[in-house]
Amino acid sequence: MFLQKLTQPLKKATLLGVAFLLPLLAIAQNPNVGTDDGADDRLRVIAIFAHPDDADSKMGGTAALMAQMGHAVKFVSITSGDAGHQSQGGGALAKRRRAEAQEAGRRLGIDEYVVLDNHDGELLPELHIRQQVIREIRKWNADVVLGLRPNDYHPDHRYAGVLVQDAAYMVVVPNVTPDTPPLKKNPVFLYMSDRFQKPNPFSHDIVVGIDEVMETKVRGLDAHVSQMYEWLPWVNGTLEDVPETSEERIQWMMDRRTSWSNVSDEQRESLIKWYGEERGSQFQHAESFEICEYGYQPTEEDIRRIFPMFAQP
Ligand SMILES: [Zn+2]
Repeated sequence: MFLQKLTQPLKKATLLGVAFLLPLLAIAQNPNVGTDDGADDRLRVIAIFAHPDDADSKMGGTAALMAQMGHAVKFVSITSGDAGHQSQGGGALAKRRRAEAQEAGRRLGIDEYVVLDNHDGELLPELHIRQQVIREIRKWNADVVLGLRPNDYHPDHRYAGVLVQDAAYMVVVPNVTPDTPPLKKNPVFLYMSDRFQKPNPFSHDIVVGIDEVMETKVRGLDAHVSQMYEWLPWVNGTLEDVPETSEERIQWMMDRRTSWSNVSDEQRESLIKWYGEERGSQFQHAESFEICEYGYQPTEEDIRRIFPMFAQP
């Protein structure tokens, strides 16, 4: 249903005049998602977010599955994470968090995990950072871009969301950030999930069952030691609960993360849509994505190509 809703405004838009020519050119250049004619025909996915660990938490299972299924997957943290700690900070913390991110990416099996040099806790939707985001999407030759919704509690998350949205059309405009060649096609833009209700709740348009990679996801998160076992427990007042040994820590995180990712009723409905009744009814853990109204609007067939774990026609 949502696909019809999204494609209709585009058809109407084609009737409008010259004032809309530029956006329409971008739409006209839309891809056959996943059928790039380049040497590497893997579908190219990039997730862009605020802090090292954001995408790991929200879509680590999906990223691991996509990588296993042959997609080229890259994570980009816009800030260095150099503020989120109770006793460390600055360059030393940024260095530590960059190394943790590299290890997390290795454990998830993705191609790259890049941490940019912007300060944690100070992110704003500034032009030079928008240009960084545009360059990342272009250099990756992305078919699919995943970002955060701009109504999160954390200002860095909010502005990371705005920055990705602000790039959602500019990536195809040659005179914008001309040091990096524009994309020939506008990617599909998707949001990672959140729990915020205002001004509008998250829509579980696409839901991926992650039972088989739950442990991979947790082991990826386990690489973010400074965050998972130091900063977050400290700020949440649960530092004394953190176990000592590495295997106990993984079990501790497994227990918490599996309960956080339990399938909701809304997710179940979407799982059944994408996997069919039998498989969709069985998943216990899932990750959700919402289709952004900017960028290329995917057909149902496109979505099944982007998410090859779904039932295929
Ligand atoms: Zn974050």
